[in-house]
Formats: sequence, C-alpha cells, structure tokens
Amino acid sequence: MAWGDFKISYSRINAYLFCPHKYKLIYINNLYVPVNADISFGHTIHKTLEKYHSSEGKTLEELFDAYDDNWQNDGFVSAQQSYEYYLRGKTMLENYFLSFSQSPTKILYTEKSFDANIGKYRFIGIIDRIDEYPDGTHEVMDYKTHAKVWEQDRVDKDLQLSFYAYACRNVFGFNPDKISVYFLSENIKIYTQRSQIQIEEALNAALSAAENITAENFEPDTSKCVLCDFKFKCKYSAAADGQ
Ligand code: SF4
Repeated sequence: MAWGDFKISYSRINAYLFCPHKYKLIYINNLYVPVNADISFGHTIHKTLEKYHSSEGKTLEELFDAYDDNWQNDGFVSAQQSYEYYLRGKTMLENYFLSFSQSPTKILYTEKSFDANIGKYRFIGIIDRIDEYPDGTHEVMDYKTHAKVWEQDRVDKDLQLSFYAYACRNVFGFNPDKISVYFLSENIKIYTQRSQIQIEEALNAALSAAENITAENFEPDTSKCVLCDFKFKCKYSAAADGQ
C-alpha cells in the first residue's frame, strides 16, 4: 500500500485506538458503517447549523427552513421513527435559537476545516464552531446531537478537543480561551480547557497511531468486539459467537 498522501484525522485515530483491525476494515477495506438514525440525524443538525449561520440567518423560521432543506432521511427504521427524530430536532433547534439569540458572541467560523502537521504527518479536521467574545477572547465548540450528556471528566479528557486546541494555536493563531461541548439535545454546554501537556499527549497519541498505521500494524483487539459496529462481519470477532 502507498502511504505517500496519507493524512490522519481524529476519526482515523479514534478508529485505530478502538481496534487496529477496525481501522483496516473502514479505511483500507472500505467497509463502511451503515448509516443509522443517530448518524443521519447528526449530519442533518450539523448541516442545518452550518447553513443557517453561514447565510447569517436571524430568525427561527430561517433556522427551521435550513432544517427542512438539509433533512437527511436515511437510516430510519420506519416513517414513525423518522418523524419522531424530526420533532426532536425541531425542539432542539428552538432551544438552540433561544440561547443563541442571547449570546454575546460573534460567530467567526462554522464547520471550519484545518490542515496541520503532526511530526511528518498531515493532520486534517473540521471544527464545528469558533466564536469571538466582545473582549476578543475565543470559544471553540463541538456539537453533539446524541441524547446522553457526558460527565465533566469525559469532556476534560476528550482527544478531539485537544486536537481542536492544537489547531487553534498552530493553524489559526489564537489561544482558545474557552473550549466547550454543546449537547444540543439538552441545550447544555460543558466547558473545559487544554494544557500544553494535554495537547502534547494528544499529539503523541496521533503520532503513535500514524506510525502503526503506516507500518500496517492492524492487530485485532478482541476485547472491544462486543461494542464494535463490525461484530457480525469481522472474521476476528469475539462477539459473534452464539448469535
Ligand atoms: S469485531 Fe473485534 S476484532 Fe473485529 S474490528 Fe471489531 S473490535 Fe476489532
């Protein structure tokens, strides 16, 4: 396999850290995870907010129009389930709109892509939103659309946010004064910070994953099979027995 144009991303690192063989199935064998209701709904909400803010939408009606325009009707098991998600999204967006209307921040970027270097590797990613406060400070935000709100400890240790912090400092040239995960289903933001040590740990994890991937080290980790999307398709699966 040629690795000349190899790029790493948070999703790739995450797949590799979960199970090296899972990485191989997705990124080398092109065995994609089937779209389900949660994945589809997540795409819809991200797209809706991107379009709404990039077109400088001002009203709730415009937000709902963006929602209808970007609705992705894939992965639902029935029309009823699709409708229930649709209504959930409307409530979510209405709450988002009420909070955003009172926010003092200016949105600088939505779905902002970056291309950074980590060691000899290119690292690419997309940041959901970057805001600027009236005092010139910045907030970097990651949207989540699933129902469960994470504990503070999980937000504090999240690898993706460490890469966001790295990209802000090294690509966009500012320090993220606030880093948040916005759980849209509950309209709750959880704030965190990243120290230089945490960023370096994240970079080391990325470098280590990149070195192992390019060395084609795809040893299966069967301790994860029970949680894996490929548990019924993977020849190494320890979770398919008895199914
Ligand atoms: S089923 Fe198990 S071994 Fe196969 S990719 Fe998933 S976690 Fe890895």
